[in-house]
Amino acid sequence: MIYNFSAGPAALPAPVLRQAAEELPDWHGTGMSVMEMSHRGRDFVGIAEAAEASLRDLMDIPDDYRVLFLQGGATGQFAAVPMNLAPRGGAADYVITGLWGKRAHAEGSKYLSRASVAARPRPSTLVPPESDWQLTPDADYLHITLNETIGGVRFDHVPQVAAPLVADVSSMILSEPIDVSDFGVLYAGAQKNIGPSGLVVVIVRDDLLGRARPSTPQVWNWFENAKSNSMINTPPTFAWYIAGLVFRWVADQGGVQAMAEINRRKAARLYSAIDQSACYANPVAPANRSLMNVPFTVAQPDLEPVFLAEARAAGLVNLEGHRAVGGMRASIYNAMPEAGVKALIDFMKEFESRHG
Ligand code: PMP
Repeated sequence: MIYNFSAGPAALPAPVLRQAAEELPDWHGTGMSVMEMSHRGRDFVGIAEAAEASLRDLMDIPDDYRVLFLQGGATGQFAAVPMNLAPRGGAADYVITGLWGKRAHAEGSKYLSRASVAARPRPSTLVPPESDWQLTPDADYLHITLNETIGGVRFDHVPQVAAPLVADVSSMILSEPIDVSDFGVLYAGAQKNIGPSGLVVVIVRDDLLGRARPSTPQVWNWFENAKSNSMINTPPTFAWYIAGLVFRWVADQGGVQAMAEINRRKAARLYSAIDQSACYANPVAPANRSLMNVPFTVAQPDLEPVFLAEARAAGLVNLEGHRAVGGMRASIYNAMPEAGVKALIDFMKEFESRHG
């Protein structure tokens, strides 16, 4: 038995993989794989529409929001956000609570005359209170990262701000309820809680469409994509199809609220094991601890490679921290069963009793 704690591309639900394997050579008697179908044919359009309908249902997405299935990953959206929301010479604010927010800001800066950092805790182990944010009065948007995948820092509430709120939700979408109407734009790379990499989902409020600068590449122009149902060109059809299977799987688990209860339980058990041990540590402020990504260190850093090797031998794989920060990280997305977290905790205790 292997438990895959990868931060992304990450583990997918086993029933989804089984269904995809069954349907791979011959989707519903068509004699072809989804990979081989025309994206404009009736079959694929049905798959695409069903996936969008499931996501709308799961997230309770209001009718005045478009859902786009695009390419270029979340990183593509770091540039697409300013191109679609701010005119040349525009301004935006970024709250930076980790490395992804930093990258979003660096990329966004290329397309803005003012890309201000409204807040940046150092080190990034908490979300600073809104009363400490320096906001630009005429900002075209405010960008936040609801869950920082590397540092494991999570917003525990949605800030209320005047500018349209844009959130990178790559590593927390579908893990707990989000009130979509609090946001102007949400975007998520698929490869954690949605499906295979190569797909990014963008959820954008209608009134924010149509502001894109003329120079915006067509494939990242939200308005053009909304008009063409994300089919300006050939979309990532297979990833879109798998996303639809994952959405149905989440619905079968009871939806996002039910998923959140499981996720809170998994995270609470893991943090509690870390906090109760003298060997492991997680630096994040308790209120801002991620439900999805749990970074941790061992007291003696020279034991890290030993921990990782022994964990791997025990079937607990991809526990390495991000290359930028080192240490360990357990990503426990929706597809990680509670038994996987229990196996990790048991291993950590056993490792500590031998090496602690
Ligand atoms: N934002 C967040 C929060 C992420 O976790 C990641 C990837 N781990 C990215 C952005 C970048 O995503 P992509 O590789 O899809 O461009």
